[in-house]
Amino acid sequence: MYQAFLIKYGEIGVKGKNRHIFEDTLVSQTSNALKSIDGGFTVRKENGRIYAEAHEEFDFDEAVGALSRVFGIVGICPVVLAEDEGFDKLAQTVVAYVDQALPDKDVTFKVITRRARKNYPMESMEISAALGERLLEAYPQLKVDVHSPQVTLHVEIRNKINLYSQTIPGPGGMPVGTAGRAMLLLSGGIDSPVAGYMIAKRGVKIDAVYFHAPPYTSERAKQKVVDLAKIIARYAGPIRLHVINFTDIQLYIYDKCPHDQLTIVMRRYMMKLAEHFAKEEEDLGLITGESIGQVASQTMQSMAVTNEVCTMPVYRPLIGFDKQEIVDVALKIGTYETSIQPFEDCCTIFVAKHPVTKPNLKSILKSETHLGEKMDAMMREAIDTAEVIRVEA
Ligand code: ATP
Ligand code: MG
Repeated sequence: MYQAFLIKYGEIGVKGKNRHIFEDTLVSQTSNALKSIDGGFTVRKENGRIYAEAHEEFDFDEAVGALSRVFGIVGICPVVLAEDEGFDKLAQTVVAYVDQALPDKDVTFKVITRRARKNYPMESMEISAALGERLLEAYPQLKVDVHSPQVTLHVEIRNKINLYSQTIPGPGGMPVGTAGRAMLLLSGGIDSPVAGYMIAKRGVKIDAVYFHAPPYTSERAKQKVVDLAKIIARYAGPIRLHVINFTDIQLYIYDKCPHDQLTIVMRRYMMKLAEHFAKEEEDLGLITGESIGQVASQTMQSMAVTNEVCTMPVYRPLIGFDKQEIVDVALKIGTYETSIQPFEDCCTIFVAKHPVTKPNLKSILKSETHLGEKMDAMMREAIDTAEVIRVEA
């Protein structure tokens, strides 16, 4: 029944002079998202609004699904486009539209008409009143309420006549590409995919890095991370995933450092390597899925010691989230099922029975001096042998 969507956006409307950059990015992101829908759409900006017009019949649920993954969109209004063939024909179309759009007619409504072209022979108020009357005749259960109606039927007289009454919520946020890029430390767990989603939602393009430890972590564990990146890419666009072979470094740390410090030392080297690739990609920050107190390596003290090696900002969007809150987002965005597949990750294998929860920076630095030049060489090796996978939705 629908031929187009009116795309509503919120926050990006208030960006002053930059507004057109945000709008143009939203237009191109919307257009990208709809590319996968058979038939095709033309997306355009008009009078501070964005329209996506279908070229032919399309799968409604698929199109709405695609739009609901475009950050920056706050509302998706399905629109019926009618030719202007006189008021009588319009009234018939509106009556038919309401029959389909409102299966339950025991509601209050009002009609709001806007004329974008003034050569229509009736005035807006007159059109609204006449259409309201026709609707009441057709469906006596309907009631008019001009102050707080349950349903507002919008009639816009343009080249074609636009009818819409329904707004499906969008994901909100800012269009991806309007806020720089950042490097996500992506593990196979529940948290980091959610962290990536949340930063992408603010308009940031995402790169990713995964620390792989074969044969302790399997090919299947790596595939799981690729699968997670694919799901994030549905929202964030294509992701360059850097897979780093971390086995030798982990074994070496295991060999040289006190075992209660393993995780912290290992995490410091992860951060250093992630930062190396972030600089190469011209990223402006790192992203992790950490949350205060979730595990020993995520106490305030541990994070302070881990953070000490970083020279770029580390964004931790889940920092104040409880696990259940993170799980709720993971379920909503579709990463949860993949995250809970039981493939080991490198942190769970080289883990001490009693890790420090309040590491002391001096003592960690002292342990690291035992790693010496051999560690520098291993870091170089890890950088030189990294594999880059371009992941698309
Ligand atoms: P997640 O659910 O994201 O795996 P977690 O609760 O298991 O998190 P940790 O294992 O302490 O927590 O990891 C904290 C953060 O470090 C992760 O959210 C992720 O950003 C990063 N990280 C951990 N392991 C890896 C890995 N193998 N590759 C890339 N990043 C990792
Ligand atoms: Mg993990």
